[in-house]
Amino acid sequence: MPQISNHMPTAELQALDAAHHMHPFTTNDELTQKGARIITRADGVWLTDSDGNRILDGMAGLWCMNIGYGRSELADVAARQMRELPYYNTFFQTTHVPAIALAQRLAELAPGDLNHVFFAGSGSEANDTNIRMARTYWQIKGQPQKNIIISRWNGYHGSSVGSGSLGGMKGMHAQGGLPIPDIHHINQPDWWSEGGEQSPEEFGLARARELEQAIETLGADRVAAFIAEPVQGAGGVIIPPATYWPEIQRICDDHDILLIADEVICGFGRTGNWFGSQTTGWRPHIMTIAKGLSSGYQPIGGSIVCDEVASVIGGEEFNHGYTYSGHPVAAAVALENLRILDEEGIVTRVAEDTGPHLRAAWESLADHPLVGEAKIIGMMASIALTPDKSARAPFAAEAGTVGYICRERCFANNLVMRHVGDRMIISPPLVISKQEIDTLVERARRSLDETHAALKEQGLM
Ligand code: PMP
Repeated sequence: MPQISNHMPTAELQALDAAHHMHPFTTNDELTQKGARIITRADGVWLTDSDGNRILDGMAGLWCMNIGYGRSELADVAARQMRELPYYNTFFQTTHVPAIALAQRLAELAPGDLNHVFFAGSGSEANDTNIRMARTYWQIKGQPQKNIIISRWNGYHGSSVGSGSLGGMKGMHAQGGLPIPDIHHINQPDWWSEGGEQSPEEFGLARARELEQAIETLGADRVAAFIAEPVQGAGGVIIPPATYWPEIQRICDDHDILLIADEVICGFGRTGNWFGSQTTGWRPHIMTIAKGLSSGYQPIGGSIVCDEVASVIGGEEFNHGYTYSGHPVAAAVALENLRILDEEGIVTRVAEDTGPHLRAAWESLADHPLVGEAKIIGMMASIALTPDKSARAPFAAEAGTVGYICRERCFANNLVMRHVGDRMIISPPLVISKQEIDTLVERARRSLDETHAALKEQGLM
């Protein structure tokens, strides 16, 4: 058997992949027929595949490569840390410098009194921590029955049993016995699809008030926390109307409910501030972090926790933790990533320079015959595909059919743009240049033109 490497022919690598590798969120039998795309290297915002194509990564991997690919500083830090202390745990009254330094830096970056960090290996794990931490908080305070967590349909919080239960993805709930008990879902603030005749502002208020109705129905003495993404990512980059978050804040304040911001996508510059809850104007008690924390160079996540919750939890043994909580190599790499984001002014650039450039280019797509709304916040954006803009109508074909066609056209044009149903979404590395933004939007437009032609040819519109 020859050594498996980038030098093997694509077909042979695909056959081995199909034989032994089960892919996440994939119909593996279908992929075996088609053959997986093999990425061999990457630099900046550009991926190279095994056929030598150069592909513009409009999704920053899975929303995570904030500083872009190919930063050797992170490799150097990882190698140094592996030589010095490749692993030690933070259980049993022990700690180490990378965990201390990263926790301190996160406390500095996070707003208000979010001063304490519980580390995890991923966003899913961190949200599992949050479920247990929020419930334990009320239990220690003598209210064990205050354990229901409210979240939203079409939210995404991870794929473990706990975080998948928090999420509102019905296809995930259908497999493996989710959700766990005492999770309650309310509707999402997706005006384009669900706003009907209401203005976006009216609709934002109405959807926020569903939280208050749920609290009143369940009883405020039963509700521990509300968790949400500042902007839903995997749900289709759903940017809520401006009225939504202030009303959610008021409701949680009025009813003594913990607010948890899932910043796994929105954190670390994606929306033009360090955290998405800052851009959208609310004050969480706990923030979930992962992805951009290390720009995906190492698997690491965590929960940033406010003084009050940390002090209550600190009063008892919290029977929770992961082997890789605060992993020294991951923590050292994350710290270096935060240094680069800060010192190179990447977050500011998103807010003041490249973000506005992308906004102008992206919003220009709204004149395309297939595009209903073109929405953007910082460097995450979506377009809703529609056969009839004024009616905000869905296609007659099953949801996702048209989005999939468009996604395939993007791939053919060497652009990674994802589809969620019939919404197309991007979330490029934050270091994307203005010229690369122009290339991205040009390719998106070409792919839309080709999709439009294909829909006409196939009688889909
Ligand atoms: N929360 C949000 C908002 C996410 O987008 C994701 C991943 N897409 C997660 C949690 C889960 O993170 P992970 O895949 O690292 O477990």
